[in-house]
Amino acid sequence: MASASQLSHLPHQAFIGIGSNLIAEGFDNLHLSLSAAVQQIGCADVAVAGQSSWYVTSAVPVSDQPDYLNAVLDIRTAFEAEQLLDHLQQIELQFGRIRTVRNAARTLDLDIISFDDEVIATDRLDVPHLRLHERKFVLYPLAELAANWRDPRSGKLADTLKAECDAVDDGSQKCRLFAR
Ligand code: AMP
Repeated sequence: MASASQLSHLPHQAFIGIGSNLIAEGFDNLHLSLSAAVQQIGCADVAVAGQSSWYVTSAVPVSDQPDYLNAVLDIRTAFEAEQLLDHLQQIELQFGRIRTVRNAARTLDLDIISFDDEVIATDRLDVPHLRLHERKFVLYPLAELAANWRDPRSGKLADTLKAECDAVDDGSQKCRLFAR
């Protein structure tokens, strides 16, 4: 994790969702390949300031894909949002993600959950992530890391979004703490 002096030249704060349900080539298990991806996110312009626990989650929408391992990272960055997306997409490629059909199994999925308290809508980016409020695999780790984070679009706290998602859950979205 980055030190306070490393963070001081990085003006922006973002939460990044990280997940995978396919082990990247060269690794023995998902936890190892995802931990290596977290290391890759850190660079001169990005510092990882915090990380949630890992969660074992079912694919959304429900399918016969293997379970995912997911977490949320708290980062500081000198990048603007689209530069951050470029950086994350390079790491996805490095970990062998092959883009096929939407929601296909993947070795690495990196999403920008939030970027400062900005609401961004461009051709490439919607921030906060548009499906944030319906995804346990984002809301559980986000509420663990930052229960008091407020969604700038809805004005709701992470804890409130998680409780609302739980309230409408039909039991199809598994999300439990990963025990190493
Ligand atoms: P996915 O296959 O679900 O990872 O979606 C990747 C696509 O979503 C990319 O083409 C991005 O440009 C777009 N996208 C829109 N908003 C976001 C976001 N907040 N974080 C990451 N990708 C995003």
